[in-house]
Amino acid sequence: MSALVATACAAGSTTEPTDPANATGAPDTSLPPLVGRLLADRPAPAVDVVEVWVCEVPADTTADLYGDLPLRQPLTADGIVERIAAPVARHLDELSHGAATVELVAGGTVAMGRDDTDLECVEAALAASRPDALAVLAVATAEHVEGEPGGWGRPGSWLTCDGTCPARLTGRAAYVGASDFHPGWGPVPLLDLVLHEYLHTLGLPHSGTSTPGDDEYPSALDVMSDSAAPRAVDPDRRDAASTLAVNLLDLGWLDLDAAVTARTGDRTEVDLAPAAGDDGTRLLVLPVDEYRIVTVELRTADGLDTHLPESGVAVHVVDDRAGEDVLRVQLPVHTTAEPFTDLLGPGEALDVEGWRIEVRSVGDVGDVGDVARVVAAGAARLAPATTER
Ligand SMILES: [Zn+2]
Repeated sequence: MSALVATACAAGSTTEPTDPANATGAPDTSLPPLVGRLLADRPAPAVDVVEVWVCEVPADTTADLYGDLPLRQPLTADGIVERIAAPVARHLDELSHGAATVELVAGGTVAMGRDDTDLECVEAALAASRPDALAVLAVATAEHVEGEPGGWGRPGSWLTCDGTCPARLTGRAAYVGASDFHPGWGPVPLLDLVLHEYLHTLGLPHSGTSTPGDDEYPSALDVMSDSAAPRAVDPDRRDAASTLAVNLLDLGWLDLDAAVTARTGDRTEVDLAPAAGDDGTRLLVLPVDEYRIVTVELRTADGLDTHLPESGVAVHVVDDRAGEDVLRVQLPVHTTAEPFTDLLGPGEALDVEGWRIEVRSVGDVGDVGDVARVVAAGAARLAPATTER
């Protein structure tokens, strides 16, 4: 769903970016404007209370989303919490390196009227949600007809909200159909779509195409694109891949001091640690202009990303000209071949948006673990794209 999000509020980060290319030792006191906007809106909550509701779809529903599909799952909020609370919490704990604790709690069931839509069910669940719930996750008892999306998620006013921001006031919510809860999947339902929609409620956009708010999911590098990519390789997987380093920065799950911002016209050499790790430099930011940056990160074929054929360097053009948050475009450019798992390896280079990016090495460096040595040089023709703070 292309939920529109209001502009960011004024609070920013006070952390200085590091700059290994800076020979004088003077701190780089600028941030690309897009990075400033990422940091300015509300981060993910440290403890997220998500209330689970069931949308009970009547047999004679007229909603197009369900068509005349006859199957109804006997779902209850308690039963859903029992089945998914632990694996969802585990996944988000791993993705956030302990920064996010997600607590699923049982709400109740909305008995939908014959003409009610998914949206009306979610609004009813929000209105009835407990005051400390920060989001609502609604699951329908019916599957969706072919061609319809499996679900949706929206931040509501969460990103610009002050105070405790309960879901009943912000409208922060996710919704999925019944398909992933089919008993045929076994005791643990498919979780990748739930995780994807949950991350939309924190403002994350899709990635993989150049169209803002696009509903295409070509990238296997991001839970916010082809969330089922890990299961295509390992049918036992229930959860999703990790996400792009820029998203981790956006959510507050990657500190700004774990990112290096190169300066236009300079040559920057950096040893990148895995983006999904919890130590070292995990993101290289190359400023382009007021609305764009290029991100460079090392993705390793382990942890949540065992589906990747090999480790290597991923490069994305991040662009919020069309809007922030769910409208931000995050386009892989290290390869044009979907699903974008052909990552840059040693000796490979890429020219993008006035930058030349060269990968010198990728590999295990003893105690340090996996490291990619990357050199980025900006073309002189680019005007300084950063804003003094
Ligand atoms: Zn989505």
